[in-house]
Amino acid sequence: TQFTDLGLAKPLLKALAAEGYEKPTPIQAQAIPPVMLGRDLLGIAQTGTGKTAAFALPILHRLAEDKKPAPRRGARCVVLSPTRELASQIAESFRTYGAHMGVSVTVVFGGAKYGPQVKALAHGVDILVATPGRLIDHLGERTADLSSTEILVLDEADQMLDLGFLQPIRRIVSGMSRKRQNLFFSATMPGEIGKLADELLNDPVKVAV
Ligand code: AMP
Repeated sequence: TQFTDLGLAKPLLKALAAEGYEKPTPIQAQAIPPVMLGRDLLGIAQTGTGKTAAFALPILHRLAEDKKPAPRRGARCVVLSPTRELASQIAESFRTYGAHMGVSVTVVFGGAKYGPQVKALAHGVDILVATPGRLIDHLGERTADLSSTEILVLDEADQMLDLGFLQPIRRIVSGMSRKRQNLFFSATMPGEIGKLADELLNDPVKVAV
């Protein structure tokens, strides 16, 4: 399979060519088609497998296919990440792949000033990448509102568990519409992560690499 066989929007193919990507990695080849169709996904994959593009590309494709303004104080897609480093990398990947699409991407995490995050969220963004603790703070202050988020990604769910983020994740999700697409990634599947996946996912496509 080549990226050109997957039916991705032209601006995405242009960005991939500029990055020198030729072929999808196994997780990309398996995950991109069902996610483009709107299916939920359970991905068992480690970092280094290309999992970021496996979710970022079909998400950007879907947002481009159904253009609409980002909701005020909200985001069309929310990506939850366990650490600020990973969150920053994911945001950077969305910016790279979305370079020719005019998407707005913002990242919020603890330890950074609130002011710029509040300002970035005020008009709404296409893609919000966040660590759970700081996102809970924004929800509590009503500087974020995720009631019309269309797509949720949970990355490195097993690390989220280790860092004590399962309850914060459940709180964040409780403020979202049920009518959303869910993508769930974990390197391992301990019982509590399997339970969370069951709670969040609707008839998911399962991909393990
Ligand atoms: P990840 O597993 O998402 O952290 O990605 C690992 C690395 O592989 C990143 O540096 C990506 O830029 C790179 N990468 C992801 N997909 C591809 C691909 N299909 N072809 C070449 N490089 C890729």
